[in-house]
Amino acid sequence: MNEIEKIKDALKSSNAEKIVAFVRKESEPREVLKVLSPNEVDKISFSPLSLNNPAKLLMQINGKVAVVAKGCDSMAIRQLIKEGKLKRENLFIVGISCKGVVDYRKLAKFVNLSEVNDVELNGNDLVLKLKNGEKRIPFLEVVDENCLYCGHPTPVIYDVLIGEPREGKRDFSDIEQFERLSREERWNYWISQFERCIRCHACRSVCPLCYCEECMVDPSNLAVSPMSTPEEKASYPRILGKTVNARDNTIYHLLRVLHHAGRCVGCGECERACPMELPLRMLERKLEKVVVEIFGYDLNEDIPFFSKLDIVGD
Ligand code: SF4
Ligand code: SF4
Ligand code: SF4
Repeated sequence: MNEIEKIKDALKSSNAEKIVAFVRKESEPREVLKVLSPNEVDKISFSPLSLNNPAKLLMQINGKVAVVAKGCDSMAIRQLIKEGKLKRENLFIVGISCKGVVDYRKLAKFVNLSEVNDVELNGNDLVLKLKNGEKRIPFLEVVDENCLYCGHPTPVIYDVLIGEPREGKRDFSDIEQFERLSREERWNYWISQFERCIRCHACRSVCPLCYCEECMVDPSNLAVSPMSTPEEKASYPRILGKTVNARDNTIYHLLRVLHHAGRCVGCGECERACPMELPLRMLERKLEKVVVEIFGYDLNEDIPFFSKLDIVGD
């Protein structure tokens, strides 16, 4: 039985009312997430181009739901359970021991994507089934960089595991070179990145941990408009301006990353979604290191990070 058949087999035994899984796109050689009914299991596909994280979608579904989850997807699911946003008893998780996913932008530099019918990982190569033959690319040339320092390739929570467990990476070597730069060099680097941000908020929209109905950086119900009364204007919070400039963008990014302290699960969705290709994961990784080294917090702990901060006092 191949990997996809094993996934379908596991899902058929789930008794779930809905299934969240990957389905191949018609126009591109990659999968997208869909909510399916149990009789649509045969539509399911899975490959190194099953990029996205299903956790956010799960929050929109009531009742028992089955989900296909890579390691980082399972991390997000577990985090949302910890934060009271999902109920474990409502989930049937088919975990995939993950060898990494492809960076679609890197792949597009090697091949015309419209020529690709199928992809599979074979040893150290990504094998592309093209309309006219086959092409092999070393996987390391196209792998999503985020996967190179993945701490949890094996799902941390599942009902059925597909594939053999894999060891994750346990260090922060990916950011140590950057940390050796001077304070001024690091500041200049980040300002040069933040000023490229167009504040489309795609990074926020895709993040499984950004679920607040009223986001402090972009309030809707509490936004000041020409119709607002003076009392409303005085009482509504104004955290940062809407102007796209380095100053406001920097505040946006600092607020965003601080809200992920001890929570970011390393799925890479934010960076994948960013049209300006900002290195958002590097910022999250730095914070992750601070949380581990200064607060001694491990994301695998059962309690949320904020409950360790002791901010309430006696
Ligand atoms: S971050 Fe880890 S679990 Fe997620 S896709 Fe990459 S290798 Fe797989
Ligand atoms: S997705 Fe990129 S451009 Fe859009 S707000 Fe986030 S960092 Fe800025
Ligand atoms: S901040 Fe980025 S990497 Fe972290 S959980 Fe959100 S989308 Fe995933």
